[in-house]
Amino acid sequence: MLEINSLHFSYKNGHPVLTDISFKVKKGEILGIVGPNGTGKTTLLKTINKLLIPQEGKILFDGKDIAELSIKENAQLMAYVPQYSSSFFPMKVIDCVMMGRVPYSQRKYTKRDKELVFSIIEETNLVEFAFRNIKEISGGERQLVYIARAMAQQPKIIILDEPTSSLDLKNQLFILNTISNMARDGEYSILMTLHDLNLASMFCDKLLMLKNSRIFAYGDPQDILTQENVDIIYGVRTSVTTEDGYKHIRLLK
Ligand code: ADP
Repeated sequence: MLEINSLHFSYKNGHPVLTDISFKVKKGEILGIVGPNGTGKTTLLKTINKLLIPQEGKILFDGKDIAELSIKENAQLMAYVPQYSSSFFPMKVIDCVMMGRVPYSQRKYTKRDKELVFSIIEETNLVEFAFRNIKEISGGERQLVYIARAMAQQPKIIILDEPTSSLDLKNQLFILNTISNMARDGEYSILMTLHDLNLASMFCDKLLMLKNSRIFAYGDPQDILTQENVDIIYGVRTSVTTEDGYKHIRLLK
């Protein structure tokens, strides 16, 4: 279980970006982090992944302070898939996914590492790209590669920043189905930021709504994706209905 306790963070200018953030993520649970631009979603993911150090608060995994983990232990615990980025080292898709095995390998990859990576490449529909350079595939395909690399890392927690932002509709569903099936099998917990509230409702067990650096609402998507909350958080008018057991959010002009 991941526990975030009273996290406070500000960048150098001192303006608070995260104020008193506390929540828990159970094994196999999918937590979606939603809220308007600039509310600290990415900053929160980066503090959990130790890319940023909070000024106050603790992050515990199974009771252990993650600040005390070595780089290797941390890489075995969590994988981070950043937002779509245009800067990357040119390399073959298969080598990029194989990098997920670095936290486990001694100097060489084992037969088991290679078998695992091949099966993930198949599972993520990347077979036809496996020997292409990641420079020579589309942004959406590259995003799939980074997700595959995170899966190869076999972490206990996968942290994804806008995983569907550059994927087409079919790949959005495909990726969210793939990672959520694995989470449901108890293999890992997922924390992800999502702009699409309809997808958040379909795939997340819990949602954390941020506003002005604080938690505005936290709970079951059915309970917190209300028209009132969505309108307040985003400053828009919407119509929110429940169909097929999920919330459907429609923007009104
Ligand atoms: P979100 O992911 O919700 O869009 P971010 O976490 O990226 O929000 O940013 C939260 C706030 O922190 C914003 O006001 C943003 O301008 C600011 N911010 C983000 N990165 C930095 C940085 N490296 N230095 C200073 N301020 C930053």
